[in-house]
Amino acid sequence: YDAKRSGTGSAQYDHARHGDGGSQLALVEELHLALAAGQLVLHHQPQVRVSTREVVGVEALVRWQHPQRGLIGPAEFLATAEAHGLMGALTDQVLAAAVEQLALWRSQGLALRMSVNLSASNLLDAGLPARVAALLEAHAVPAEDLTLEVTETVLLSDTARSRAVVADLRALGVGISIDDFGTGYCSLAYLRELPVTELKLDRSFTADLVSDPRTEAIVGSTLDLAHRLGLRVVAEGVEDERTLARLCALGCDDSQGYLHSVPLPAAELTAWLSRGPSSRSPALR
Ligand code: C2E
Ligand code: MG
Ligand code: MG
Ligand code: MG
Repeated sequence: YDAKRSGTGSAQYDHARHGDGGSQLALVEELHLALAAGQLVLHHQPQVRVSTREVVGVEALVRWQHPQRGLIGPAEFLATAEAHGLMGALTDQVLAAAVEQLALWRSQGLALRMSVNLSASNLLDAGLPARVAALLEAHAVPAEDLTLEVTETVLLSDTARSRAVVADLRALGVGISIDDFGTGYCSLAYLRELPVTELKLDRSFTADLVSDPRTEAIVGSTLDLAHRLGLRVVAEGVEDERTLARLCALGCDDSQGYLHSVPLPAAELTAWLSRGPSSRSPALR
């Protein structure tokens, strides 16, 4: 099973096919069609409690099931969607699919939380919190089961407006996570002022944790800081047992990465969950 390839999930978008400007336009048109035809799908990557190996939740990651090109990863189309005003519609579809899946898992007795990524334009949309509230209510999913991830850079785009949207979302009871923490421009003032519930330690820190003492010092201090603020910390990109052991020694709460599983379609994730902790990792790697 080639974890690295299916983890990024992407066939390359064929930019050469139309020449440069043409391919952008073709991509935008195709994205419109993809949204209308329901070609966007979610894969789910488990989040595993470091101390107990219990699966506590998943992150929903969007992919484009393209009729000709197969599965296309988000790096190939998210920037275009954002630049051409399609991110609102995309996020609405992602959120609807995510909450439906949460409701389905609940009905199967699976208590999982789910994290969904938001983009910059989503945080300028003052109507988003009400739509999230309506979705949760329609599917009888508790707000606590949903976490919305924003990057540090996203929070900079229009701070007053995006802060108001983040505050409204948090007021619903959904969790707020800072994604890729440590790589952007997040000042300590943000941690003081924003109603954040979780930090996701960027994969670059996870990757260097075992080999670089300076990285370990930064990760250790970040964990202390986060815990003193009452925040949960999820390490992204955990690929090996040594890294997980070091995260455990440092007191990191949760972990996500190819060590546990690549992002999987919901049905495959359900099957993976039912195999039990001891047989999970070998089956995937
Ligand atoms: P992210 O939110 O930081 O998600 C983590 C990315 O790291 C995912 O890539 C995941 O497949 C990959 N990953 C997971 N474990 C490992 C590992 O152990 N090693 C390595 N090298 N990579 C790992 P993916 O799915 O290609 O998504 C890329 C980015 O696209 C995401 O980064 C997120 O910023 C964005 N994205 C994905 N889905 C959505 C969505 O529904 N909405 C929005 N707005 N953005 C999304
Ligand atoms: Mg994320
Ligand atoms: Mg991330
Ligand atoms: Mg990242």
